[in-house]
Formats: sequence, structure tokens, C-alpha cells
Amino acid sequence: MFASRSAVLRRPCARLMSSAAPSSYKLVVIGGGAGGLAVASTLSERLGRGAVAVVEPSDVHYQQPLFTFVGAGLKPLADARRPMADVMPPDATWVRSAAAAVDPAANAVTLADGSRLAYDYLVVAAGIQLDFGAVRGLPEALGKNGVASNYSPAHVQQTFEFLQRLRHGNALFTMPATPIKCAGAPQKIAYLAEELLRERGVRDAVDIRYYSALGKIFGVDKYAAAMSRVAESRGVGVNLFQDLVAVDGPANTATFKQLGSGPDAGRTTTVSYEFLHVTPPMKPFDFLSSSPLANAAGFVDVHPHSLQHVRFPNVYSLGDCSSLPTSKTAAAAAAQSRVLKHNLLSQIEGSGAPAAEYDGYTSCPLVTAKHKLVLAEFSGYSGKPHETFFFNQANEHAFSYWLTADVLPEVYWKSMLKGTWCGPATIRKFANPTSSN
Ligand SMILES: Cc1cc2nc3c(=O)[nH]c(=O)nc-3n(C[C@H](O)[C@H](O)[C@H](O)COP(=O)(O)OP(=O)(O)OC[C@H]3O[C@@H](n4cnc5c(N)ncnc54)[C@H](O)[C@@H]3O)c2cc1C
Repeated sequence: MFASRSAVLRRPCARLMSSAAPSSYKLVVIGGGAGGLAVASTLSERLGRGAVAVVEPSDVHYQQPLFTFVGAGLKPLADARRPMADVMPPDATWVRSAAAAVDPAANAVTLADGSRLAYDYLVVAAGIQLDFGAVRGLPEALGKNGVASNYSPAHVQQTFEFLQRLRHGNALFTMPATPIKCAGAPQKIAYLAEELLRERGVRDAVDIRYYSALGKIFGVDKYAAAMSRVAESRGVGVNLFQDLVAVDGPANTATFKQLGSGPDAGRTTTVSYEFLHVTPPMKPFDFLSSSPLANAAGFVDVHPHSLQHVRFPNVYSLGDCSSLPTSKTAAAAAAQSRVLKHNLLSQIEGSGAPAAEYDGYTSCPLVTAKHKLVLAEFSGYSGKPHETFFFNQANEHAFSYWLTADVLPEVYWKSMLKGTWCGPATIRKFANPTSSN
């Protein structure tokens, strides 16, 4: 029996590891997400077929920045999803399993089935773990009675479903106290929900409230001021130092604990809701936090500029699982991939090229409505804006929306995952040569 033409076309280009495949590679990359594939594409092409293995258990790759648009009903989930086989670099070997342990002293990764992969060099790009279980009652409540989360592909479509049914009452949007990926996403969906409810004619009957465990609406002052203005103009109530600690699904209530050092610190408040969008607490994956690669917080302990591990020089990390002290985004991972690839290749090839340095660049496109967006770009190291364009990106712009909704998703599939998009540094040289903002 012959395979159909479409089945042949869908066949993975990357070599899937079989039992006969080698158990030793020049380079092993843990994680086939945004950062892992950006690195594996370039390195597998450069080092040759069979030299690079990508350890990745999932059949599906998600372009997660699109989840905000999916949750607001502006894009279908299908736009954010591709079969992993279709995005795996053709010269890499896909090891379809989860890493269960790393032994950097022995240069080996143990897989979920107990087998071991040996490596000369290791790149760790496993992302960050969603921890819904850290909020009492949340795992039971999620996906029912108005509780959704754009952070989970299993629940992102429910955000839109529940918002379409919402007619009155409180709509709550939460931001946890832990490090998270895309720190702007918890509030972006509040503004898109506000617009949706207005369009549906029920806005006046819904009280929209944003509850953040942090003490500021956004980390960088310039954008914090812009977002405070947006929240105020749209009637979104902002409650700071409020950490979601419990959800009672059957009773439709959310309990918040007051953080900070004020007189009310530690006090809890219970609020009723008709709709609850939860950004879950997040934490490093257990196989990393329990490994010798971890820092005290469980993240892969790399040098903030070179991305090389501080104790194991043949190990590098980028993206959400790394200790890099900047905001965790795909935009950051793209910029980090340029530095990591340069430094790792120069080490492997012994070229002696001067080391590249990562400056903490990250970006958070704060979508505030259809065709409006505040394009925050900054260095997490300096805390200062680092904008690509000459206009003031703290203002809501239709251009910034178009760039984020229509251009960057294509750049992600066609260029970032293929290793050719490493952030906007080159564009900035022309579009904003003085980068004075
Ligand atoms: C709702 C939402 C909105 C966002 N909006 C934006 C935005 O507008 N702009 C932006 O730049 N970023 C945004 N992000 C953040 C962005 O998606 C992440 O920062 C980015 O994907 C990080 O890349 P990564 O490679 O570190 O991790 P990921 O892309 O998450 O990839 C990690 C990979 O590792 C795999 N993995 C996990 N455990 C193991 C294991 N044990 N062994 C092997 N592999 C493993 C996973 O299956 C996954 O494929 C958003 C994220 C969300 C959820």
C-alpha cells in the first residue's frame, strides 16, 4: 500500500530518532519551542545532518504570542498551531521524548524512558511550567463557569466563549507574583474584553477589574504611565499587590491576598465573579530546578551577557527557562538566539571571535483594542525603553497593531523558527538611528 500524496507531503523533514539512531550528539537542544528551534535551525545547518538532536515531547508547536488574539476571538487557534514535524529543522534529529534529568558532569541527558543521550554541547530551552495547582481550587474551576486562561492552549478558546456569554457582573483578570512569560498578556486581554463587551452592548453592566500581585501596572515607567492612562480611559479598575490565592468554582468567588508592606498586608478579600481570566503562577520545570544547572530560584544559571552557563562552559540557555534577568518573551528569545549562536559556534569551531553580548532586549506588544497597540520595547537590564521606530511607541498605534497581528506571526514561522530572525536590531539602525526614546 502506497502512502497518499498528502501524507508524503506531511512527512517530517527532520529525522525522527529510531531505536537505531545514535545516542550521542555534538549538540543536544532541550525544547523545540521558540528559542530552541531558533538555535537548532542554524546550528544543525552549520554542523551538518545528524550532529544536532532536539529533545521535544510535544507533537504540536504553538506560537504562543497569538494566544491573546485567540482568547479575544480575533484569530483562530489553528493560526497559532503547527505540527511539530513541520517546524523541526530538516537537518536536526527530533528526539520525541521529554528530558527527565540532566547530568552536566557526565555530559548526558536522561530521557523519560530512562535512556541517555550524550552531548558535547547542550542548549536548554524548555520554557516555563504553568502552575495552576498553586492556586487553591483553580484546577477544578478552570474551564467551567466563566473561568478561562489564555496561557493554556486547552483553555484559550474558552476565554472568548465565556466573554461572548457574559451579560453582567464582575469580570476579573489576574496577574500572579511569580515570574511569568509575557508579563503584559494578563492585562492585554482585559482591554480586548472591554472592547468586546462594548461591541455587544453589555459593557455598562460589567465591572472590569485587573488584579495584579505586583506593585506597578508595568515594569518600565514610560509604559506604566501609558497603560495607567489606557486602563483609566477604558474604565478598567486596577488593583495592585493583590495575589489570587483561591478560586471557588461552584460559588463563583476569587480570593486575593494583599501583598506589600502596608498595614493590610496579608489580609484576604473574596470577590464574586461572572468571568475570571487567570494568569497562573509559573515555575521552572522540576527536571531543571532539581539539576546542577539551576540557580537558587530553579532557572538555568547562565551569564546575563554571554548566555553561557556559569559553571558548565559547554552548556547554554535561552528563553523562559533561563536565569536571564529580563522579561520572558519570544522577542527576548529571538535577540538571545543571536548571541547564543554566535558564542556557541565560536566555541565549537574555536574561531576565537569576540564574544557577542546580550543587552536584555525584550518586547511586549500591549494590544489595547482592535487596531490599537502600545509597542513596549526595552532592556530588562537597564529598565529603559529601546524602541525600533522613530515615533513614540508608548502611544497606541494602528501600525504597531498591524505589525504585531499580521507581520510578526509570519516572521515567527518563516524566519525566527528557521534561525534567520534574531530581533529588530538591524531595522532599528535605520528606523530609529538615534534610539533616543
Ligand atoms: C498568552 C501569551 C501571550 C504571549 N505574548 C507574547 C507576545 O506578545 N510577544 C512575545 O514576544 N512573547 C509572548 N509570549 C511569550 C512567549 O511565547 C514565550 O516567552 C516564548 O515562547 C519563550 O520561548 P521558549 O523557547 O523559552 O519556550 P517555549 O516556546 O514555551 O518552548 C519550550 C518548549 O520546551 C518543551 N519542553 C517542556 N518540557 C520539556 C522537557 N522536559 N524536555 C524537552 N522539552 C520540553 C515544550 O514542549 C516547548 O515546546 C506570550 C505567551 C503567552 C502564553
